[in-house]
Amino acid sequence: MLLHDYLEQRSLLDHHCHGVVKDDLTWPVFTSMLTEGDTAHAGQELNTPLGLAVRAYCAPLLGLERHSLAGEYWQRRMELGNVESSQLLLNASGVDMYVVDTGYRGSELTSPKELEELARRPVETIVRLEMLAEEIVTHQSAEDFPDAFRAALAQRSQDCIGFKSVIAYRYGLHFDPTPPTDGEVVLACSAWLREIESTGSERVSDPVLLRFFLWQAVRHGKPIQMHIGYGDKDITLYRCDPSQMTAFLRATEDTGATIVLLHCYPYVRQAAILCQVFSHVYMDTSLGVAHSGAGSRSIIRESLEIVPFSRLLYASDAFGIAELYFLGAQLWRIGIDAVLSDMLNSHDISMPDAQALIDDLAWNNAARLYGLERGEA
Ligand SMILES: [Zn+2]
Repeated sequence: MLLHDYLEQRSLLDHHCHGVVKDDLTWPVFTSMLTEGDTAHAGQELNTPLGLAVRAYCAPLLGLERHSLAGEYWQRRMELGNVESSQLLLNASGVDMYVVDTGYRGSELTSPKELEELARRPVETIVRLEMLAEEIVTHQSAEDFPDAFRAALAQRSQDCIGFKSVIAYRYGLHFDPTPPTDGEVVLACSAWLREIESTGSERVSDPVLLRFFLWQAVRHGKPIQMHIGYGDKDITLYRCDPSQMTAFLRATEDTGATIVLLHCYPYVRQAAILCQVFSHVYMDTSLGVAHSGAGSRSIIRESLEIVPFSRLLYASDAFGIAELYFLGAQLWRIGIDAVLSDMLNSHDISMPDAQALIDDLAWNNAARLYGLERGEA
């Protein structure tokens, strides 16, 4: 069997994505989902690597010619409506299980249950640590906050398969690697409560608190996803290089925790090195793949340079529009096909080994890491 056909027939387990926008889309909302920026030149919204990929790969799924123009694509999408367009794209993705981070703009998006109905596939949940803390912070005094957070985490961990930290967004990955004491947490929480009082916003950014959430999650032993690299303008990119948290990885190595580096672009090589030297570290290339369109082939090639093959996972990091779930999968297949076909041609790998590698990346590595029931592909 050709490698291409083998890839087409594999189910994918998307271990990091978000929900789909519930309401009908407008052009500004649709195009805002195609960039991590918040502005695009009018008329130029699809004039990007991702825009080209939408026109090349999504247009035929909606019954259009490959490379149809942006205006034609949008008109067809409106004719079909958001639900039907989403179902066409989700069905074509080959994804058979989704793991959803509900922690960002959750009210605008499908809940895990709603996504399950839309995609007709099982959906598992990740709990975002900062959001959990923001939900409970005003419900007790600062003195009681450490215990309240521990109790809330224990309760939520019953219905989720892992946690996520956005310390990269809120502070940076150069954080102190040691767990803070409860006394330090109480002091930091008092300051946080005063800030909430004066600003009306619960957004937490104190590094003592962010470290506390992380270390509490470490104690639960479930995989902890961490945002790395590429993201919107809230991040300071050079602070999102995963090598900046090497001391934290050293400190957690023998705790039983597993750390999953999400997105990683442009620090794909740094992440792969960390996967090689720390046995509890995993990575994906998610967000950078969809947004780089044809450029994703070199990102996928880089990700496979030195990583132990059992630590690389498939994910789309799709958010809001079904194009991103489909393109994450489609571009991943194309990139894997390109890299492994080269290796097959030069006899660097056998066909059975290439097929086993695809099975691991597409499904088995994530199923094993998160303990998901369907088991191995
Ligand atoms: Zn994400």
